[in-house]
Amino acid sequence: MVTSVSTAVLGVVRDRLDGQVLLPVEDGYDQARSVWNAMIDRRPALIVRCASIGDVVTAVRTARELDLEIGVRGGGHSVVGQAVPEAGLMIDLTPMSGVRVDPERRIARVRGAPCFPPAASP
Ligand SMILES: Cc1cc2nc3c(=O)[nH]c(=O)nc-3n(C[C@H](O)[C@H](O)[C@H](O)COP(=O)(O)OP(=O)(O)OC[C@H]3O[C@@H](n4cnc5c(N)ncnc54)[C@H](O)[C@@H]3O)c2cc1C
Repeated sequence: MVTSVSTAVLGVVRDRLDGQVLLPVEDGYDQARSVWNAMIDRRPALIVRCASIGDVVTAVRTARELDLEIGVRGGGHSVVGQAVPEAGLMIDLTPMSGVRVDPERRIARVRGAPCFPPAASP
């Protein structure tokens, strides 16, 4: 079951984002919903591929406005596939992957998706 999201709502979300929104009909959607466990075959209503912290905020607000379940994809290694909500909104942190280490201050900053090969952009 895939809940359809109106084009008007989608337009507003797209305007607010640095990253991308993917619908089930769009190129890159199947790749973005694929996780480590290939048995997970859930179809989110939309996938927000976040490029900034502001995008994450927008994605959470959008899910709340549309009353959609949220799944957060970090590395995509959750064996039960919690990152991929059926008919919900998937917050894909893949574009925000990265690790930065400051050896002098002994501080490591790890972003949301540090370890799984990112899906290619459509
Ligand atoms: C091959 C393999 C090797 C592993 N090796 C190790 C290891 O050596 N050490 C170790 O500690 N762990 C290991 N794990 C477990 C893995 O690190 C954990 O499952 C980890 O939580 C995955 O993080 P992720 O960002 O890849 O998860 P994702 O699948 O991207 O999901 C993000 C995280 O958020 C959670 N989540 C997503 N949506 C929601 C929601 N709506 N509500 C609540 N939670 C949510 C998920 O459960 C998950 O933990 C391994 C897993 C695999 C498949």
